[in-house]
Amino acid sequence: MSTTTFKTTERVDNPARRRLFRGQIHTKQILRLPWIINESVFTSGCTQCQDCISSCETKIIIKDNDGFPTVDFNLGECTFCNKCIDVCEQPLFFSDFSDDENREGKVADNKKPWPVNIDISDKCLAKNNIYCQSCRDECETNVIKFQYVNSSIPEPNLNDADCTQCGACISKCPQDAITFIFEPKAN
Ligand code: SF4
Ligand code: SF4
Ligand code: SF4
Repeated sequence: MSTTTFKTTERVDNPARRRLFRGQIHTKQILRLPWIINESVFTSGCTQCQDCISSCETKIIIKDNDGFPTVDFNLGECTFCNKCIDVCEQPLFFSDFSDDENREGKVADNKKPWPVNIDISDKCLAKNNIYCQSCRDECETNVIKFQYVNSSIPEPNLNDADCTQCGACISKCPQDAITFIFEPKAN
């Protein structure tokens, strides 16, 4: 009798298990906050308190359809202020980002904020022989170079390794041609 009561209580009180039964723990690919451990850790641990949303200085964090925070680079860029990480009371991030030494260690490891690569699609005006360099003008790290390839209009060429993933170029593209594409998952 007491064993049955314990199991029932555990099922009700464990938010991760509750979400699992409700199908709310995700493994799908959505841009969350920078430097999260992974999607399932995030959606099982995030309490949806929304503190990260109100702390974001560029207001790029919004709620997804299930109430979890997601970053929308169409709204602006990430300044890597880390306020969303500092305000979060849950263990959702690589290392302990509330500890400056650990944070610097992770940055030194070159761990990327998101498991993505940046891509400029064929919708790009310059790739269609129409002059545009809006993305280059936004990129402080000078990752986007323009080169003459097949026409008299220079085309963008990305050095993905130097991209900080700030996303500043994304909302400035008049064609919505710039996106972050998730890296293939390791087996
Ligand atoms: S690091 Fe700062 S700018 Fe970037 S998502 Fe978090 S709160 Fe917003
Ligand atoms: S602060 Fe942390 S727990 Fe709260 S909504 Fe943001 S990620 Fe979730
Ligand atoms: S996301 Fe990368 S390419 Fe775009 S502005 Fe930032 S550093 Fe430059």
